[in-house]
Amino acid sequence: MSNKVVTRFAPSPTGFLHIGGARTALFNWLYSRHTGGKMLLRIEDTDRERSTEAATSAILDGLSWLGLTWDGDPVSQFERAPRHREVAEELVRMGKAYYCYASPEELNEMREKARAEGRPPRYDGRWRDRDPSEAPAGVKGAIRIKAPTEGETIVHDRVQGEVRFPNKDLDDFIILRSDGNPTYMHAVVVDDHDMGVTHIIRGDDHLTNAARQTVIYNALGWDVPVMAHIPLIHGADGAKLSKRHGALGVEAYRAMGYLPAALRNYLARLGWSHGDDEVMSLEDMISWFEIEDVNKGAARFDFQKLEALNG
Ligand code: GLU
Repeated sequence: MSNKVVTRFAPSPTGFLHIGGARTALFNWLYSRHTGGKMLLRIEDTDRERSTEAATSAILDGLSWLGLTWDGDPVSQFERAPRHREVAEELVRMGKAYYCYASPEELNEMREKARAEGRPPRYDGRWRDRDPSEAPAGVKGAIRIKAPTEGETIVHDRVQGEVRFPNKDLDDFIILRSDGNPTYMHAVVVDDHDMGVTHIIRGDDHLTNAARQTVIYNALGWDVPVMAHIPLIHGADGAKLSKRHGALGVEAYRAMGYLPAALRNYLARLGWSHGDDEVMSLEDMISWFEIEDVNKGAARFDFQKLEALNG
């Protein structure tokens, strides 16, 4: 097996290419080019209600305009649903997951009880050890993974360091819904594995998902890719980035006449710094980019700095 780096950008096509997404794509792209590896593109279109063709086109256009090329054809996550089902069923056969037939009323009761006791809602594992022959007739079950109940799940993150999650906070979460559709958690693991992804670079809003995904990797006996969760972008005032900090879509900057090189330079500086060089050429960026140099603190989006770079 080759040990080439394979990164991926995995947007959900529910809107335009956001500044945050573009920065994630740029870091993945820089790292793949820096190491002589590949960057794959996966369109996470499993949510049929929110995903649109128009959003997919807008994302592809935005990436191309920024000069961020991907290797091979974009992969549609939705089209891989049969494979997600197959792996979930395999986990059941392996004894690492099970069908759960808890009714919505029962689940609701669990939630209410947790709320009354001041704990976060958790599935109580009531179908974990029951015999499949007890399944109610005519009811389709959801598949839940057997999450560890003791000890810790550790995410070794290139940006955040070693992040520990107490297993008592994990419950047996759903990997395949009763309608046969995979959950995001499961689809991402199966896709990253099958696509040969070696490095997952994404926003740190996915850090807690990384713990659950690690549980799935471990159950399958698959290697966990290198993880790097990059801090989200905030406005110059420290608040979460929103419209009042300036336009949020790459498309808007393009329409305003910004040059791709200016936006690329600006995005590169959001959370990664290399000396004081004001404007970096693409070659410089590629040769200097290291995941370890990505800052741990939230990046600040400063519209004026971007304007200055645009010249
Ligand atoms: N589709 C997810 C998102 O757009 C990203 C999933 C991932 O990178 O693992 O937030």
